[in-house]
Amino acid sequence: MSELARLYRWETFSTRQDLAVMPEYNAVCVSGADKACLAKSPTCGHAEDADDWMRAHLRETGHVHFRRVFTDFAELLETDQLEPARVKRVRA
Ligand SMILES: [Zn+2]
Repeated sequence: MSELARLYRWETFSTRQDLAVMPEYNAVCVSGADKACLAKSPTCGHAEDADDWMRAHLRETGHVHFRRVFTDFAELLETDQLEPARVKRVRA
């Protein structure tokens, strides 16, 4: 197989969110005048759970600055397995 043929083969795959794996949400407290607190939430299955952890941390410490992280998982699918676009293209 030539180099060109191998490259072409990989172009037939597209990435999408892996719907079999739930996204993850985390928060890290970055409050602090001289040094960031860096308290971390547990890994949460919903954004609201990470928000609840931040509110609880605020009540305990008064800290109000957080770094939020959203992680999803991806999979590669052959493009002919994807659903066709539902929007018709308009050509001028
Ligand atoms: Zn904190």
